[in-house]
Amino acid sequence: MPDSAPVAPEAAPAPSSAAASHPRQSEFSFAVGTRLEGGDGAPTLGRTGTITTPHGTIQTPAFIAVGTKATVKAVLPESMAELGAQALLANAYHLYLQPGADILDEAGGLGRFMNWSGPTFTDSGGFQVMSLGSGFKKVIDMTGPQRDATPGSDDAVAPGKERLAHIDDDGVWFKSHLNGDRHRFSPEISMQVQHQIGADIMFAFDELTTLHNSRRYQEEALERTRKWAERCVAEHFRLTDERVGKPYQALFGVIQGAQYEDLRRKACGDLGAMPFDGFGIGGALEKENLGTIVGWCSEALPEDRPRHLLGISEPDDIFVAIEAGADTFDCVSPTRVARNSAFYTAEGRLNLSGAKYKRDWGPLQDGCDCYTCANYSRAYIRHLFKASEMLSHTLISIHNERFVVRMVDDARRAIEEGTFHDFKAETLGRYYGP
Ligand SMILES: [Zn+2]
Repeated sequence: MPDSAPVAPEAAPAPSSAAASHPRQSEFSFAVGTRLEGGDGAPTLGRTGTITTPHGTIQTPAFIAVGTKATVKAVLPESMAELGAQALLANAYHLYLQPGADILDEAGGLGRFMNWSGPTFTDSGGFQVMSLGSGFKKVIDMTGPQRDATPGSDDAVAPGKERLAHIDDDGVWFKSHLNGDRHRFSPEISMQVQHQIGADIMFAFDELTTLHNSRRYQEEALERTRKWAERCVAEHFRLTDERVGKPYQALFGVIQGAQYEDLRRKACGDLGAMPFDGFGIGGALEKENLGTIVGWCSEALPEDRPRHLLGISEPDDIFVAIEAGADTFDCVSPTRVARNSAFYTAEGRLNLSGAKYKRDWGPLQDGCDCYTCANYSRAYIRHLFKASEMLSHTLISIHNERFVVRMVDDARRAIEEGTFHDFKAETLGRYYGP
């Protein structure tokens, strides 16, 4: 263990200690604004709202940009603020391994460390511990539940990979993807790490399953996640008392349950009864079921607390998530695709590597209000990419982040003005073509 690793308490606190709320929870709030009406004029699960944190407010629905290692890759925090990003999400697993959560604590927390004055999120590290640990690298194989009945599928490891994570009822042993060192995450350690990192919104430590796991394993994992949620709340409140003078950090419980409606609803009932400040909807989500599953959760969770959908990728997912009641969602795609020279336009995603852009003196997208489009041509950015110049990543990332931020801002305004369905049809019609 590195010297930054916190020490876990000897025994987990009794679950009853997690039942009551904490007085400092009033320092975080969520107010529902306008309800999205369905085609028939009846209210749907979608809504606008305002999340208030010690580092400012987030108008929802909001896109949360991902800065995994306390940086949005290749983009200055000042540029993120300028392009309208309201909040950033970093990753507890990565920051725990490097540079160590104690370094961020000493810096005054994540925001101050990276010179970002707005609200911040950290995810619990559970996803990375378990996905990197099962050898699937950055993406857990979620191609479908068809292997549900395959014996041994609960121990699925990517072909040719060593299993690097071992889950037990108390937590997870895993090996660092950086140097192979062995580490332990438990609900208490995740809370200690996230308190040291100091983001405004944290997530409870949960067990991520895949669509390949058996139904029986999903039930066991869900029960483990429920118990871990209780332990996270208890440790979070203990740390809130102990770390006097720090800004209040909100804690969101994470709803698992894969593709099973009864399990998702049970998780919402169990965690919804705990004093979480909000909720994350996580785990195995097939694209075609995304709206359905988020909808079950939105129906079953307490109405007055915000709901974050963990990790989505495409513009159509964003509209589905908003309609199904997600208030915030994070997405790594704008910078990830930018590093492969892909850029968003109203007419879909294009790739600058094509020869036709060699003498294209126009901006990435006509009419775009971002810094890149105001100052640089497709021809120039294509040249940078072809010459392996890092500036291409920066310029395309700024455009892509602005594209998604603006789209979600427009969707929020459309809910307020009662034009969401027209806006969605027009936007997706143009983006995905006829
Ligand atoms: Zn642009």
